[in-house]
Amino acid sequence: MFLFFAVAIGCFAITSVRADDDDDYELLYTTPDKWLQVWSDHAVDQSRCKMVTDRVRKAYSFVAKEEGWSNPELLYKKPLKVRLVQGFKSNILGFARGPNLFVVRDEYMDDPLSEGTLAHELTHIQDSRQLKGNKEPSFFAEGRALTNGHNYRISLGQDQNQYDMNMAKSAMRFTSEDASERLYLPHDEGWDMEAIGTFFVEYLRTQWNGGIANIHPRTAKVVENIANGLEFKAAFEKEFATPFDSAVKAFMSYLNKTAETPQVRLEKTMWQDVSPTKGPGAAMDDDDED
Ligand SMILES: [Zn+2]
Repeated sequence: MFLFFAVAIGCFAITSVRADDDDDYELLYTTPDKWLQVWSDHAVDQSRCKMVTDRVRKAYSFVAKEEGWSNPELLYKKPLKVRLVQGFKSNILGFARGPNLFVVRDEYMDDPLSEGTLAHELTHIQDSRQLKGNKEPSFFAEGRALTNGHNYRISLGQDQNQYDMNMAKSAMRFTSEDASERLYLPHDEGWDMEAIGTFFVEYLRTQWNGGIANIHPRTAKVVENIANGLEFKAAFEKEFATPFDSAVKAFMSYLNKTAETPQVRLEKTMWQDVSPTKGPGAAMDDDDED
């Protein structure tokens, strides 16, 4: 009874914010500060909606702290819609669309891995809010998002898992040719793009010029430079005072140097405790943390 009442109230409240293809979904819950909304294609009780918004807010705050944005107020200006769906046609678990919408399979929210997906997708949301319509390369977006997703899971006390192991395996098999191709594609997709983007961000953090420990706020500045109208390469060079090409060259020579001993590539990275040789090696779906 209460659920129906709340839904009805919610529907009145949302007429002014209705946008994109919301027609198949109902607004079930809005946080008291009006910032977070839960929409769904099925009945979800209020306590679950609240649980979801609490977790989204926590992951969003984690990402905001990691990035150290110059204008954090941009992150909270507009409401963020969380769409809980019963399922997707494909085996996708969740995704972000633009600056205001995060879509996730409802059931998946009960899987601990979803914490990583939250931080991952909310990184995309924050980037999008900062970029204001400008674009960053896919590998760069995914590298930033996947490292946040991983770091958030670990911050919650979760262990490394099969997903991390598969990422580590990819880091071990990449060649300098892979880097020279993938890191110059502005729009790319799939597992290898995500893995090399993540590995590149980890390389910058742990190896490049002695290691850029605060790589997240530094890459966030690159995003801000793009938002201010610079192309990606110029945005990168402005922040790091080094051309992007020379960073890629350094990465390529590192890949060449470690081609025969790929295990050393994991040292100091977020995969340092992952042992790819122990795992069953079953590849997970490309979309698991996308
Ligand atoms: Zn992603």
